[in-house]
Amino acid sequence: MSQTPLYKRILLKLSGEALMGNGSYGIDPETAARVSREVKQARDIGTEVCIVVGGGNIFRGIKGAAEGLDRSTADHMGMLATVMNALALQNALEKVGVDTRVLSAIPMASVSEPYIRRRAIRHLEKGRVVIFAAGTGNPFFTTDTAAALRAAEMNCDALLKGTQVDGVYNADPKLDLSATRYEKLSYMDVLSQDLKVMDASAISLSRENNIPIVVFSIHTENELVNVLNGAGTCTTVG
Ligand code: UDP
Repeated sequence: MSQTPLYKRILLKLSGEALMGNGSYGIDPETAARVSREVKQARDIGTEVCIVVGGGNIFRGIKGAAEGLDRSTADHMGMLATVMNALALQNALEKVGVDTRVLSAIPMASVSEPYIRRRAIRHLEKGRVVIFAAGTGNPFFTTDTAAALRAAEMNCDALLKGTQVDGVYNADPKLDLSATRYEKLSYMDVLSQDLKVMDASAISLSRENNIPIVVFSIHTENELVNVLNGAGTCTTVG
């Protein structure tokens, strides 16, 4: 299949949950391996891939704050959780033969490179997968916003959000059997109807920079490459 992918350079947003598999905490090696194989397929059809990974499978700042931690401290802990996920994902990607660099927004010289925009672009041009760790590096943000920010900085053609379901629905498809999936939505639809795609700052940032957000299921086998080939099931916000 020698098709030109829909997008030349993508930012893939993976929540921490995407690495959790059927567990309720942490990283499932089998799931990390499967996600890595899917990323490899995307590389193999010529798409440049950078990834922002979340940390919700390990620690969420807002939960820590609710339990009495200072919010900034809790958010820093959340960002450190994303670094663990980034290292696990790097390891899994390298096992399937994908050259990968982790660039952290919180400098951590022994385990990652510092985030330097031009360096990240160079890695992508050389065919490496770049994993952005530690979100934006700032508390009070989410990795969704980090994904929109890095997608803009890297001049990505699309932000692909791998989620638990295959797109955006008008109701929760797990609870309501009559829920229908949107094929396309505008950024304003998402904001005004408060649809749970990404948080509002991530949507606004993508809107200002004209970067489409493609929501697809990370659990469906080969779906990333299908979406890139224009054949997958997804919702496009743009
Ligand atoms: N976080 C932060 N600043 C950022 C990105 C993330 O403070 O720019 C913290 C925040 O506490 C968040 C945690 O890191 O709860 C994990 O990220 P997120 O909840 O976005 O992960 P996901 O839901 O995608 O797994």
